[in-house]
Amino acid sequence: MHLCTYDLAGRSDVGLVRGDEIVSLGRALGGTLAPHQPMIDLITRWPELKARVVALQGAPADHRLAEVHLQAPVPRPGKTLAIGLNYLEHVQESIIGESRTVPEHQIWFPKLANAIHGPFDPIVLPRISTMTDYEAEMVVIIGQRCRHVPVERAHEVVFGYAVGNDVSVRDIQKRTSQWTLGKSFDTHAPVGPWITTADELGGDPHGLEMRCWVNGELRQHSHTRLMIHSVWDQIAQLSAVMTLEPGDMIFTGTCSGVGAAFKPPKFLREGDTVRIEIERLGAIEARCVNES
Ligand code: MN
Repeated sequence: MHLCTYDLAGRSDVGLVRGDEIVSLGRALGGTLAPHQPMIDLITRWPELKARVVALQGAPADHRLAEVHLQAPVPRPGKTLAIGLNYLEHVQESIIGESRTVPEHQIWFPKLANAIHGPFDPIVLPRISTMTDYEAEMVVIIGQRCRHVPVERAHEVVFGYAVGNDVSVRDIQKRTSQWTLGKSFDTHAPVGPWITTADELGGDPHGLEMRCWVNGELRQHSHTRLMIHSVWDQIAQLSAVMTLEPGDMIFTGTCSGVGAAFKPPKFLREGDTVRIEIERLGAIEARCVNES
C-alpha cells in the first residue's frame, strides 16, 4: 500500500494512493484520525485500522493525485536520524584527501524538524554557502514504539519506506567534527512521495535500485543491497540508545556520485532540478531556489 499526506484547498489529510488517484482516509475512516499528525495516528493504530484501509482498494476515489499537493508523508516526525558513510563507494569518494579511514562504528546525526520537506517542494539554497549538495537515500518509517530491538526482529518495527534527499551544505558540515548544522538547513530533508508499506517489499528493503539525476544527468546509481550497515543493523543500534516511536524516520545513507566528489565539484545552483527515484518506492523531484 502507498499512503500519503496531502493538502487540497487549504485542508490537510492522509490518503491511500491508488495509481493516479487518492482515497481520503480522513473521510473513509469517518473522521477518527487525530487532526494533528494524522499519519502518526494512522501508523500507531495500524493494527486496528489496516483491514479497513485494505478494504478501500476498490472504493471510489476522492481526488486525482495530480490535483493535490503532497507533503512529507510524516510532516513532523518525532525525530529523524541519518547514518553517514554507509555505502563503500561513497566512503571512498568522501575520504579522499582526508586523514580518515572507513569508519568502525555507525555514524549518526539528526535531521531536525525544520528540515523535513515535501517531495516536490523547492529546496532552498542557503545564503551563507555555495556548497549545497544532494544525497539520494532510502528512508525508513518506524511503525511501533520499541527499544533494544535485536537485529533479527528489526523488520517487525518498520512501517514502511520512502525516498529521501539528505541535502547537505558541505562547508558548514565539514568545518566541525559533527554534522548537525550542515545537515539541518530549512527544506533540506525532502521525503516522499508517499510511504510504501513494508509488506509491499515482501519485508526486505535491501533489493532496490536507486538513482539520482540533476537536470536530467544521472549522478548517482546504486542499489540498497550495497549498504554497509543494513536497515536491521541500524534499527538495532539506534534502539539500543533511544526509544523509537511511530513515524520516526531513518535516512539510511547515500551512495557514490554526490556533487562534492566531482572534480571540479558539482554543487546545486538556482534552477537546478534534483530527481531521486528508488525502485518500487517512487520518485521525488525538486527545483532549487536561492534563499531570498
Ligand atoms: Mn546522508
